[in-house]
Amino acid sequence: MKYISVAIDGPSGAGKSTLARRAAAELNYLYVDTGALYRTIGYHIWKSGVDPKEESAVLRAISGIRVELTYGADGLQHMLLDGRDVTGEIRLPEVSMYASAVSAHPGVRAYLLEMQRRLARTHDVIMDGRDIGTVVLPDADVKIYLTASPQTRARRRCLELEQRGTPQPFEKVLEEICRRDDQDMHRAAAPLRRAEDAAVLDTTELDFEQSLRALLKTIREKTRR
Ligand code: C5P
Repeated sequence: MKYISVAIDGPSGAGKSTLARRAAAELNYLYVDTGALYRTIGYHIWKSGVDPKEESAVLRAISGIRVELTYGADGLQHMLLDGRDVTGEIRLPEVSMYASAVSAHPGVRAYLLEMQRRLARTHDVIMDGRDIGTVVLPDADVKIYLTASPQTRARRRCLELEQRGTPQPFEKVLEEICRRDDQDMHRAAAPLRRAEDAAVLDTTELDFEQSLRALLKTIREKTRR
């Protein structure tokens, strides 16, 4: 049986995960948040006190660990690190920069590649990340590059942090978003870029429901489901 795969890439804060999760629920696909894999590695490196920029030290530190992606009774994706559920911890703001730094190493990307491809071989998936349409699933049935202006993304992230009870000043959030964009777009290994055959969805001027409708329309047109 041939499974459908939808690849959604784009910069941080473009609303990829919230939109992709909702679209997957509507279409009955498995939602795979690949950023959570890099966050799990970033979290481990942070906790181990290893310099995330030192590839050989990072690879040594992850050689003995077990990273698993599972789905809980709540239907949501959970990350396990050596059997312990770290789904909450990997969202800490400190982990974002560690995830971005470790994800620049080809060895880290290779370590996580097969896990992502296996999920797409065995399920209809909506997978979001930075290199899904370009590297992980180059033959995906649908490729979407989801983006929004840095200011809009920073505003949305501020709102999200506020709702989580951990508010941060707008300027700080904007600066972090721009720094992460720069790091993700200019690394040598699998940099964030739009796949040539990806449809661009810019949500700067759209609210959540409008973005979701546009996303579902693109997916349905390309898969005829
Ligand atoms: O999507 P999220 O912000 O959770 O991702 C955290 C970091 O993981 C990103 O800044 C990016 O550097 C990295 N990442 C990646 N490739 C992916 C998904 C995430 O390099 N497919």
